[in-house]
Amino acid sequence: MSGIAIHGGAGTLDRAAMTPELEQQYLNALSAAVSVGDRIIQQNGSALDAVEAAVKSLEDFPLFNAGKGAVFTHDKTHELDASIMCGKTLEAGAVAGVQGIGNPVVLARAIMEKSDHVLLCGNGALKFAQHIGIEQLPESYFHTDLRWKQLMQVINEEGTFLDHSVHTDPPDKKFGTVGAVALDKHGNLAAATSTGGMTNKRWGRAGDSPIIGAGTYANNNTCAISCTGHGEFFIRAVVAYDISCLMEYAGLSLEDACRKVVNDKLVKLGGEGGLVAIDTKGNICLPFNSTGMYRGWKSENSEIITAIY
Ligand code: ASP
Repeated sequence: MSGIAIHGGAGTLDRAAMTPELEQQYLNALSAAVSVGDRIIQQNGSALDAVEAAVKSLEDFPLFNAGKGAVFTHDKTHELDASIMCGKTLEAGAVAGVQGIGNPVVLARAIMEKSDHVLLCGNGALKFAQHIGIEQLPESYFHTDLRWKQLMQVINEEGTFLDHSVHTDPPDKKFGTVGAVALDKHGNLAAATSTGGMTNKRWGRAGDSPIIGAGTYANNNTCAISCTGHGEFFIRAVVAYDISCLMEYAGLSLEDACRKVVNDKLVKLGGEGGLVAIDTKGNICLPFNSTGMYRGWKSENSEIITAIY
């Protein structure tokens, strides 16, 4: 059994603001990312390589809030968060608040494989990237007019905004964090997540995406999870690890564990969002408690499927 599932963010998605052309662009990007990861799995590659490649392809697509196209911080910069985890070894790597890195997921994997650490932040992470030869890109690489417009709408307000929940007229509530989970033909699970975080964030705010156990988790005994949504709630609910624990210690199925955490626990806390998950048998779950979540998946014998609402 094998399979892959990806997301491009969950949130208050407004159907009225979506043109058929734009919708097709999203679906194509989601499908391309599933296909990149699936090809690796079909060639007997590792789940780790598959999730890294899928997330990298979503980071390169400017309409998602990760890598190129990431949201702006209050200081008009881009501070990127990412993480990756191997279900076989429980090794993990993560980066928070780094600037100038086009593919933060690649840096997260390098932290996992080439350092003694799990999480590197800000300037230190950048120095490590330079040390191992990962190129630093100018701010202009990350600039998109849409993200700039979103920041200008909220920069004088207190607080941060999910990129898909920034209020505009007409409402402009699309895009998001990206992530992937996979099960390879060797029975290994992996998960990865990457984001620009929330529009107008300041003071070095980091969400759930770089936090192992909150936004990302993989364990060959249970499942692999990548989350998207209002990060503060996902950190407090330790969402990804909680689902794994419900399976490991309480014997719940992936579906029941996902439902309990996303549609019960998170809702009670007030946390909006969703996640993609896959278990050791290749079962895939894509729960969300928001109006939509950009998502795509492929099971061993199915075609690639993509959806938004
Ligand atoms: N979870 C991300 C964060 O809070 C945002 C998102 O999923 O769009 O940083």
